[in-house]
Order: sequence, then structure tokens, then C-alpha cells
Amino acid sequence: MYPNTSLLIGGKWTDAANGATLPVMNPATELEIGRVAHASKEDLDQALEHVASAFAVWRKTTARERARLLHAAADNLRARVEAIAPILTMEQGKPLAEARSELTNASDVIRWFAEEGIRAYGRLIPPRNPDTYQMVVKEPVGPVAAFTPWNYPVAQAIRKMSAALAAGCTVILKAAEEAPASCAAMVKAFTDAGFPDGAINLVYGNPGEISEYLIPHPTIRKVSFTGSTPVGKQLTALAGQHMKRVTMELGGHAPAIVCADADPESSVSMLAAHKFHNAGQVCIAPTRLLVEEPAFDGFVEGFVTAAKSVEVGDGLLPQTQMGPLANARRIDAMERLIGDAVDKGGKLLTGGRRIGNKGNFFEPTVLTDVPPSAAIMNEEPFGPVAVINRFRGLDEAVAEANRLSFGLAAYAFTRSQRTAALLAAEVETGMISINEYGLAYPEVPFNGVKDSGYGSEGGTEALETYQNIKFVSQTHR
Ligand code: NAD
Repeated sequence: MYPNTSLLIGGKWTDAANGATLPVMNPATELEIGRVAHASKEDLDQALEHVASAFAVWRKTTARERARLLHAAADNLRARVEAIAPILTMEQGKPLAEARSELTNASDVIRWFAEEGIRAYGRLIPPRNPDTYQMVVKEPVGPVAAFTPWNYPVAQAIRKMSAALAAGCTVILKAAEEAPASCAAMVKAFTDAGFPDGAINLVYGNPGEISEYLIPHPTIRKVSFTGSTPVGKQLTALAGQHMKRVTMELGGHAPAIVCADADPESSVSMLAAHKFHNAGQVCIAPTRLLVEEPAFDGFVEGFVTAAKSVEVGDGLLPQTQMGPLANARRIDAMERLIGDAVDKGGKLLTGGRRIGNKGNFFEPTVLTDVPPSAAIMNEEPFGPVAVINRFRGLDEAVAEANRLSFGLAAYAFTRSQRTAALLAAEVETGMISINEYGLAYPEVPFNGVKDSGYGSEGGTEALETYQNIKFVSQTHR
């Protein structure tokens, strides 16, 4: 039932030139379920040739025709949700319901960028001479190298591909080796829609070798990466040496500030749902839950009850609410971070251990009163562990929220309009959602500040990251 994954180069699905493959494991069973082709330099050279020749065609394709093809890809993807969702669950671990919603949301992302591409207007600037036109024209930046991770194998890739293609760019996508087949099935929805050969190329292999080869290559004009901050900094430095445009969607460590006047039920239920979604392997997951002293005990009690009620199991089972962690590295990281937090004086209220000895299952975990010196207060946990600390006064909450070099997402809960406005202004973050969980829709910007990266992955801002600005001045004589 689980397919092996090929490379897509110049419109052809193919094995690696040297026949190399990597294993794909099911994180719920730790069994090998398939293989993924491992690209060599020869394959990358082919992909570079095709992405360049396709760009010559695609950049001249009208925005309306690009939109027609993007809508056809969205239709294909939507029609295949039930077929692709189990593949995504088997390779990544998430429950089937989350896999389905990742795929349906992906088709919405395609549609949004399809329409926005039609509206990529330029500008006329009033001239200094009545016979002159001064025009600002938007052009596609060129072939893109995109690198996407394993936590949302489809969603991470679709944001980059849809925006790039809508803008008139062509793409070499280096997707996640650990969860390759759902992404390949998503890409097939595009090739079946009739995109020109080479407009989308899909490769897997050694991430470091591929990025080192593609980023400096003269064909590539833009780099887009989603992953950890250390890798993002390394790739940005390399791109800088070759003056390539970059979008970096990197790590987060989201503060969630719960004020004493917040609605106690909705703050608990929203934060618990989003903490354990995708087993916490989400860059915008709430991580440091900062609760104002008078509300602390009630919030903790409600949150622990919610954590204990999460049904953990194989994502293919209908009752499962949280699947296994996507790889064994995350189990090691959870054990290290929780052990360190407890050693430093934090209280472990529930969870804290791996479940069983087969599959990467981990208990939904709640820690409280963790000192800022603990590793988990400084390092992105990327797993199902919530830290709940108390604060007295908004200044203390804002200082803690801004203490880290991350600045991706933040959350706040309060009934006071004045407090909401203050937090929206003072928290150093790319996105803040107040009294709701309203991030990551296709039409809104998705971006970080500080070490969380730069360049948006949503909204019109995302399309602009794939466009060059050209100024044209023309006088009629
Ligand atoms: P990692 O940092 O090695 O890898 C993260 C991603 O970057 C993977 O998809 C990997 O293939 C890719 N990558 C790594 N080195 C690369 C290189 N030189 N060139 C191109 N791509 C490269 O480690 P990991 O164990 O997979 O994840 C660890 C941490 O990464 C997580 O704890 C989390 O903080 C972060 N992460 C963030 C996101 C996100 O959505 N922002 C997604 C996955 C991982």
C-alpha cells in the first residue's frame, strides 16, 4: 500500500542515476515501509538544466494560464485526499484526520496563490515629463531551490511551490527524505494537471550535499528553506556569498501569555489542542505558557486534564488523537529536555516518558515552574511537552516572551482590549494570535523575526518574495 518514491526530473519520474535509495520507516512500527530515490550530482545537473529551460517557457506563460493549471492541480489534489492521507500517516505518524486536513488545506493554498498570481499588479508613477511612462513591473525571480522538512511534508512544500509557480518561477524541490511519498503524490497532482516538463523537479538525497550544490549554482536565483535555525543560518550565509534571494522559515519557541482576565476554558482548550497537534512538531506550537498568578492553578489543572485525555496511538487507528513522534531523534530530545528541566527544579505534572518500546510514542507532558536556565526554556522542544510558568504583571510576561532570540509565533488570552493592544505591540514576533488560534491561513502572512527567519510564506507578501521589481521608464518621441 505504501509506494516507493522516485525523483521527478524534467517531467519524468525516475530512479537516481546511480540507483541509490534510502529506507523510509513507519514511526508507529519502526518497520521499513518503502524506499526513496537518493539523487546524485548527475541527477541534480539534469534537474538544473530542466528547471532553467522550463523557466524560459513558464515566465512567459500568462498569469491566467498559470492560474488555470494551478486550479487543475488543486482539483487533482482534492480528489486524491483519501488516497494520499494514509501514506502521509504511515511515513510521518500524524493521525489520519490531521493528514486529511493537511491535504485539503494544501489544495486551498494552491487556489489562493492561483488567484493572487492574477493580481500581481505593477504600478505607474507620475512622470516628470508628460510624454513619459514610469512603470514598476513585477517579474519572476527565476528558478528556485526549495528545501522542506518532515513535520508537514505536503504543507511545507505546497506553500513554496504554489507561490513560486504563481509568480512565474520554476522549482527544484528537495523534500523530506523521512516522509517522501505524500509529497511526491502532491507533486503528481501538478504534473497530471499539465504543467510544463521541468517546471517542478523533485529530488531527495543528502540534504547538505544537495543544498551546497544547488544554492551556489548560477541557474538558481532564489532559495527557500524551512527547518532549524542553525541550518537556516548556514544556508543563508551560503546564499549570501552568491547573492541569492532567500526566504527562511526557521525555529520558534512560542510564548502564550494567559492573563488573569482570560476566558479560562477557551485558553486551556485552544492551547492544549495546539500543543499536542502533530505531536507538538510544529514551529508555531505554543511552548512557553505564561499564566498570570491568580489564574495559574486553575489553568494548570485544566491543562493537565486535557493532556491526560489525549489518545496516543498509531495514526491509522480512528480513535488516535496524537500519533508517534516522526523519528527517534525526537524521543531522545524529549527525554533530554524533560530530564534537564526536572534536574533544574521544574515540576513534572504528567507524562515525561516514552510509551512502550516499539514506535516513537511519547506521553503528552506538562512541566511547571521551570527556571529560565533549563534547556527547554531556550531550545525549541518540537515535541508534546508544555511548560507552564507563572507571571506577575504584564512587564514580566513581555520580558519573558522577548527573552529568546526566536520570534515566530506568539499567543495571548485576555478580555481587555487595552492589554491585547499592548501585547500586540510589545511582543517581538512575526505573528501573534489573541484569544484564538488564527495563524497559517493561505491569505495571511506567515513569517518570523530575529532568529526565526525572514520572508513570508503566506499572503501577498509570499508572492512578492518570488518577484523582482523592474523599473521601466519610457518616453514617446
Ligand atoms: P535538522 O536541523 O538536521 O533538519 C531539519 C530539516 O532541515 C530537515 O528537513 C533536514 O532535511 C533539513 N536540513 C538539514 N541540514 C540541511 C542542509 N545542510 N541543507 C538543506 N537542508 C537541510 O534536524 P531534525 O532532527 O530533522 O530537526 C531538528 C529541529 O529542526 C527540530 O527540533 C526543529 O527545531 C527544527 N525543525 C523545524 C521545522 C519547521 O517547521 N520550522 C521543521 C522540522 C524541523
